[in-house]
Amino acid sequence: MRVVLIGPPGAGKGTYSEYFTKKYCIPHISTGDIFRAEVAKKSELGLKVKEYLDRGELVPDEIVVEVVKRRLSEPDTKRGFILDGFPRTIKQAQELEKITPLDAAIHIYISEEEAVRRLSNRYVCPVCGRVYNLTYNPPKNDLTCDYDGAKLVRRSDDEPEVIRRRYQVYYQTFSPIIEYYKEKRLLVEIDNTIGSDKGIPLLERILVDKGILRIKPCVT
Ligand code: AMP
Repeated sequence: MRVVLIGPPGAGKGTYSEYFTKKYCIPHISTGDIFRAEVAKKSELGLKVKEYLDRGELVPDEIVVEVVKRRLSEPDTKRGFILDGFPRTIKQAQELEKITPLDAAIHIYISEEEAVRRLSNRYVCPVCGRVYNLTYNPPKNDLTCDYDGAKLVRRSDDEPEVIRRRYQVYYQTFSPIIEYYKEKRLLVEIDNTIGSDKGIPLLERILVDKGILRIKPCVT
């Protein structure tokens, strides 16, 4: 199952990734996570990319492609992989084709309004970091953490105006990539307004029916 995962903030990409990585033992490879870890380690690569991350700019294609190429040569990708945050440019998409064949580009989407509704309902505990959602996973008592009683707060990037901006920026970057995979007939789309509980089994069925998901679960 060699797939690229595309989804705007709040669409549920994290929940989908977690399900497939656990059930099928394939790695979730996020270029953003790789870069953040390298920056934290202050490695040579980290020092090279830090200024781009700090400015919110794209890391040059040559660097990202090299990182992905190296990561995809590791043995844990034998059964497949879920690439997240890559490719972000057509050049990266073309280079990826030279590295490995892809089975699908999966676009999990919700509307901008729905993204605002979901993410502005998200609260975190400033003490233990637990995440709550007032709709799906509310705290037992009003806006306080179930575990330590701390007053829950909203992350600054979960404010409605910031969510709208993140959503629009996401599609400015990824719309050409979605088009690219549509033309290649690799695009699989899931409207996750129905929620991940229903969306995940639906996607799994589609992937099996299309012959994209050919591996057996690694856990029972
Ligand atoms: P993300 O967590 O995917 O939003 O990525 C965080 C940051 O890492 C981005 O703002 C970019 O600076 C960098 N980055 C991650 N993936 C890529 C990519 N495919 N191409 C260029 N830069 C990237």
